[in-house]
Amino acid sequence: MDTPMDIPAARRALATEAVHAGRDDLARQGLHAAPIDLSTTYPSYDSRGEAARIDAFAATGAEPDGPPVYARLGNPTVARFETALARLEGTEAAVAFASGMAALSAVLLVRASLGLRHVVAVRPLYGCSDHLLTAGLLGSEVTWTDPAGVADALRPDTGLVMVESPANPTLAETDLRALAHACGSVPLLVDNTFATPVLQRPVEQGARLVLHSATKYLGGHGDVMAGVVACDEEFAGRLRQVRFATGGVLHPLAGYLLLRGLSTLPVRVRAASENAAELARRLAADPRVAAVHYPRIGGAMVAFETHGDPHDVIGGVRLITPAVSLGSVDTLIQHPASISHRIVDADDRRGAGVSDRLLRMSVGLEDVDDLWADLDGALGQGPAEHATAGAGHRTGPGV
Ligand SMILES: *Cc1c(COP(=O)(O)O)cnc(C)c1O
Repeated sequence: MDTPMDIPAARRALATEAVHAGRDDLARQGLHAAPIDLSTTYPSYDSRGEAARIDAFAATGAEPDGPPVYARLGNPTVARFETALARLEGTEAAVAFASGMAALSAVLLVRASLGLRHVVAVRPLYGCSDHLLTAGLLGSEVTWTDPAGVADALRPDTGLVMVESPANPTLAETDLRALAHACGSVPLLVDNTFATPVLQRPVEQGARLVLHSATKYLGGHGDVMAGVVACDEEFAGRLRQVRFATGGVLHPLAGYLLLRGLSTLPVRVRAASENAAELARRLAADPRVAAVHYPRIGGAMVAFETHGDPHDVIGGVRLITPAVSLGSVDTLIQHPASISHRIVDADDRRGAGVSDRLLRMSVGLEDVDDLWADLDGALGQGPAEHATAGAGHRTGPGV
């Protein structure tokens, strides 16, 4: 029988992995959709064998062979998502958590457990990631620097270097290969939430850890909260041990939704990126707009600054949803200084390039002319001499 499973895994393209990875055993089981296993515990009449499996997990963090013992230790539905994401990112393993912040917390705890509490990080980061490091909530100490300053900021107790590229919310990009080189033997964590493995695979450029808020593009429909770290099997083992001990597990239903989300990730990201690139072009040509930020690698996020009051744009959209978060099939817009990055000290925020006029838009799959009509209306008349003929004509639901 000629099935995609007959092609060696290493030679499958991303689009093929997206719909087949984590599902290789289904046909043999007589299934097509992945089953959802909601068990919290699993029967075993062999407690000697169970003891040996728990010992093995305690030693390496490797996933126990055979059925799971307890849902905090592992779940087969979540494991499918982890397998699939690891394939997409080109890593040996991936470990899923209840949210992106739970995933980052687990990474920090793994390093802190080795006495490596110092983190070198590049701003901007997602507001709560910045807050977690700055406030030292998990006992870490952070040195903020730019990519060129990373090598000099490293100390004997540095356990992690962290960067986002493109960064939330400015879409600033970092040369990951050069940064990985500057890190030496210290693990580089790249938050790849904005790029997704469709546009960028940080491990190929020397990163050791790839973090996702899976709440965003991986889930892709605004209805599942999750986080995941893609990495080598050794680090994954430590992450599983921390997850087991601290409990930030992903629910199996979320694991199912994420596996389903991955299957359309490449088409969603490409289609939304086309829309975003077109909107970035139109915004850049618009006299009511002071600056537009759109990454060289592309993507579905656009940031821009208006000459007018950004709060008026938020109040003026009708088709686009004014809401924090990103990566869904529909378009969202928010004001980082008020919401996603509010928790960051105002001077630190501005110093990282997050101006009080910046708006961040996550572009979805709507028709691009409908999106533009909504933005055009929300931008209003702008400065009087810049009033455009298009202002005021809006389409879409809710108008
Ligand atoms: C949203 C986000 C996070 C946090 O993820 P949650 O799933 O909300 O916990 C981390 N990094 C980036 C870049 C994000 O956008």
